[in-house]
Amino acid sequence: MEMNEQRKKRLGSEEAGAVGGEVQSGLILGGEAVSKNMQCRIARFCQNIALELEILQLREELARHERLELAMRKLNENLSEIDSEDFWLRLTQISAELMRAERSSLLLFDEKSNTFTVKAAIGNNADIIKKEKENPGKRVARQVLENGESLVAADIDKLGLQAAPLEWKYKSKSFISCPLTIGTRKIGVLNLTDKTDGGIYSEYDLEFLNAIAPQLAVLIDRAALKDKAGEFEQLSVTDAVTGLLNRRYLEERIAEEIKRSNRHGFPMSFIMIDVDNFKAYNDSFSHPEGDRALKLIAHCLKDTLRGADVAARYGGEEFSILLPQTTFEEAKIIAERIREKIESTKFPNRQVTVSIGVSSYSRLICSAKKIIAAADKALYKAKRHGRNNVQVYENINTVKV
Ligand code: GH3
Ligand code: MG
Ligand code: MG
Repeated sequence: MEMNEQRKKRLGSEEAGAVGGEVQSGLILGGEAVSKNMQCRIARFCQNIALELEILQLREELARHERLELAMRKLNENLSEIDSEDFWLRLTQISAELMRAERSSLLLFDEKSNTFTVKAAIGNNADIIKKEKENPGKRVARQVLENGESLVAADIDKLGLQAAPLEWKYKSKSFISCPLTIGTRKIGVLNLTDKTDGGIYSEYDLEFLNAIAPQLAVLIDRAALKDKAGEFEQLSVTDAVTGLLNRRYLEERIAEEIKRSNRHGFPMSFIMIDVDNFKAYNDSFSHPEGDRALKLIAHCLKDTLRGADVAARYGGEEFSILLPQTTFEEAKIIAERIREKIESTKFPNRQVTVSIGVSSYSRLICSAKKIIAAADKALYKAKRHGRNNVQVYENINTVKV
């Protein structure tokens, strides 16, 4: 039971469950006056169960954490082939599965035309929903995206929203609608309804969805950018030579990912890559040949990475990769895989190698600047170690930015 400050004060630790001096919960008894003897027994009872309650609470927190971690892995593993034709359907299916929803729809928002498109719908009558031509998203999605906050409803009728068309035949009146954004950019809305166990969506479900929403937004944004090949939006976030995302986009994403790690304690890692002796490559084989080599390196990166990883051209002959939901140990393995892949790729003029620095989010490396600076330090260590190797940033106390 949540207790307000006043009540906590009134109840000493004698009547309330206390762990380490902190009052966690209280037991309130009404009715007849309670005898001194009874008061003592109640106080003893409360103290006995306080620790049990604390353990239950911790266990619940752990279960939440595990559910989130599992979800992130699932998204990463299942959506790595971003080019795949059925990407939209798969993303909607996985989201529904994670949220235990029988029905789900994904609406993509186009800021330029201020309209929604239904990209995918699953479950009963999905075909009818997908064909919704007349101003899709007008009932709920538009409102949700404008407010920038998820909407969880136990009963849609009580929200005063326009009812869904009868032919959609929803089984339940409970739903969740979640806005998907990156910074100030509006990406789309994910709707979920008809919970598989027949229950209603709770604040707990909402919290979980809000935690995975940024990951969904990134995956959707990238697929949407691919769909719009050649358009201005794509040009503004991609590098023309390699087709990778640019530094601006990467920095925006790191900042968001750091925020998520700060809030939920998710692991994340960052990799900085610099091509070895590249000036000599240009000098020997020409600048256009150098550009060809950079393209091939970008290709190697794309081949090695997973769905939610963000590979970018950081500048000149430097590349970087943001690895959400990735521990230090995993990042080291991925970095080594990249190094090997480039070393063993046949380049047109001569062998090309890279040096790599790896850093990971920690209590002390908890800002975009720090995680980049740490990877940079590790990269210079790799250069000093003779190039074509991976170094990690472990001495977390010495990052200066
Ligand atoms: P190190 O192993 O220490 O990194 O040696 P390096 O020669 O790669 O390092 P340095 O920083 O001295 O040189 C980077 C070179 O990368 C300079 C430039 O010739 C080349 N470079 C930077 N941007 C581009 C580009 O867009 N295209 C091409 N072809 N070359 C580039
Ligand atoms: Mg360089
Ligand atoms: Mg270099």
